[in-house]
Amino acid sequence: MPCRLTFARLRAPVASTLAIPALMILALATAVAPVGAAEPLSPLAPEPGAAPWSGTYHSQQHRAREAESKARAGMRLQKAEASRPAGAAKAMSDYDVRWYGLVLDLNPTTRIVTGTTTVRAQVVNGPLTSLQLDFGSQMTASAARSAGVPASFTWNSGILAINLDRAYGTGEIVDVAIDYAGNPSSSGFGWNTYQGQPLIWTLSEPYGARIWWPCKDTATDKADSVSLDVTVPSNLIVASNGVLTGVSTPVAGKKTYHWRERYPIATYLVSLAIHPYAIINDVYYPQDGGTMPVTHYVLPSQLGAATAGYAVTVDMIEAFADAFGEYPFVAEKYGHAQFPWGGGMEHQTCSSMYYNNYDEYLIAHELGHQWFGDLVTCADFSHIWLNEGFATWLEAYWKEVRYGIASYHAEMAAARYLGAGTIFVENPNDFSAIFDYYLSYLKASWVPHMLRHVLGDEAFFAALKQYRDTHGFGAATTEQFQAVMESASGRDLAAFFQQWIYGEYFPRYDYSWRHEPAGAGWRVRLRIKQSQTNAGLFVMPLDVRIDTAGGPYTFVVQNDAPEQWYALEVPSAPTAVTLDPEDWVLCETRFLGVSDVPDAGLALGLEAAPNPFNPRTTVRFTLGEEGQVALAVHDAAGRLVAVLAGDRFAAGQHAVTWDGRDREGRAAASGTYFARLRAGDQTRTLALTLVR
Ligand SMILES: [Zn+2]
Repeated sequence: MPCRLTFARLRAPVASTLAIPALMILALATAVAPVGAAEPLSPLAPEPGAAPWSGTYHSQQHRAREAESKARAGMRLQKAEASRPAGAAKAMSDYDVRWYGLVLDLNPTTRIVTGTTTVRAQVVNGPLTSLQLDFGSQMTASAARSAGVPASFTWNSGILAINLDRAYGTGEIVDVAIDYAGNPSSSGFGWNTYQGQPLIWTLSEPYGARIWWPCKDTATDKADSVSLDVTVPSNLIVASNGVLTGVSTPVAGKKTYHWRERYPIATYLVSLAIHPYAIINDVYYPQDGGTMPVTHYVLPSQLGAATAGYAVTVDMIEAFADAFGEYPFVAEKYGHAQFPWGGGMEHQTCSSMYYNNYDEYLIAHELGHQWFGDLVTCADFSHIWLNEGFATWLEAYWKEVRYGIASYHAEMAAARYLGAGTIFVENPNDFSAIFDYYLSYLKASWVPHMLRHVLGDEAFFAALKQYRDTHGFGAATTEQFQAVMESASGRDLAAFFQQWIYGEYFPRYDYSWRHEPAGAGWRVRLRIKQSQTNAGLFVMPLDVRIDTAGGPYTFVVQNDAPEQWYALEVPSAPTAVTLDPEDWVLCETRFLGVSDVPDAGLALGLEAAPNPFNPRTTVRFTLGEEGQVALAVHDAAGRLVAVLAGDRFAAGQHAVTWDGRDREGRAAASGTYFARLRAGDQTRTLALTLVR
């Protein structure tokens, strides 16, 4: 959703928004210039829960507070309707939505929306006798039909239940139509004016679609297609999803815009933006030939600024298509529709954009969402990082494409967040948690950033394409994303996702080193200790740069223990050692000095964790220098049970796993065993306790 980076970075005049933390708004209030050139938008009249609108809120703190409290009122409204009564979720899982048809008449004078929504769905768990839909309290249903036959219905606690004309079996198609009317004005539906003309807009993420049309408001059941036939006073232009197939004149003084979205779409991405827009037409040339329109619906007074500001869009589509596969909705269009909400919203094929913001970050963010958010949607808002983390990361990626890798890293450095909280949203009915700027946007943007370095560029971008192939036009959870990343890369990423998505904070690496002659060159003995006390162990590969008289050398070490030793050889005398020099890991590093390394650290070491264990344990051994190693497990009677290692190993720390099985693969019995390590003329023995 809403990109808020522009707010935090203080780059552009901004308007109030739904869920900016209060402190951030207050900070902006003093730091941001009031909106200048453009005429402030004026709401038709203040009313409870009215949409936040742009203007001069930010020039005074009390207005910022007012804006936020209005936003919160709107949030409460959506929140109250976000959670379904018991039973409704189950009833909704009994059918699969195929198509929604929205026929709407919008009257800006009365602010009444009169409409009919048709739902075509396939029964997946019949017999189905009632179709249940999410539907807010602001609109009132007046009639319903099932297969064209008048049908009775009930509305209770946000659930509209239509009694079908008969029982439908599994596989059958149900067609239900609902007539309704009302004023959906809310945090997600605005009746604003601009220069005396209506400026009507929607922003339905996360649970706002149900406020203005009945639907199964769940990203895991995208409609295969949606049609919107929207009637407005004839001077207005309607921008929406997909392709405009025609404009008709139903009666004098009105026009109907016929929009068709033929790609699968989540309910919260269905949108309207309505105004006597000026239209900017641009063209994108798809990879397989042909053309795709890039159409911007802008306020007439913004025509010059928007023509210049949005010109970069086509270059961005090309860049993202190169990296992540063709623009997902290439048979339709991309573009922007200007609205008064302070930020952007990635409505499918037509992002809504604050009317006076042409920041490349915002354009890249909303465009990036077309791949990450619209094509693949977070399955529920607990996994919002799959949308917002990627869109925020794509802002930096765009900078890399356009301005070089240093710009990318500068952008990521600006997105560092080291505070509390998990990226996973524990309570998806808590709006401020879903759109937590620090966790869902900033820290989450470091997840693709770090994963990119863990996997390497080639594997990372290939895996993202596989993610698209696997979940495109559908939805995904963190676990599904992880599964694709693992199968595409062949890597075990369990620890990575556990620590970064479900865990808090970050690793603090304390390190020290010393060096000694080794052959014709030098050996650096590096010790890394994880010293964080507010989080558990982190498992990450770490870049180590060793500066020498002959230039820098970079190594990658696997860091997966509270204290670990590495021996790294360089041809010239080392002068400095730096951990993670390019900031690929969200961490803090502290250099303890070259004198801090005790000799004891160089000795042969042997440890195991967990211990006691069941069914397996990791045995770590440390070598002072390269050599032949024999590591085996014996039982209490001295009989050989398993051989864990018998090879040459480099100096440093190594790990092997004992799976609790003997040489024939049989599970060993509970009891005490002994790991025996022999390296050169030294031996170590460690008791291992297997508890079945
Ligand atoms: Zn976003």
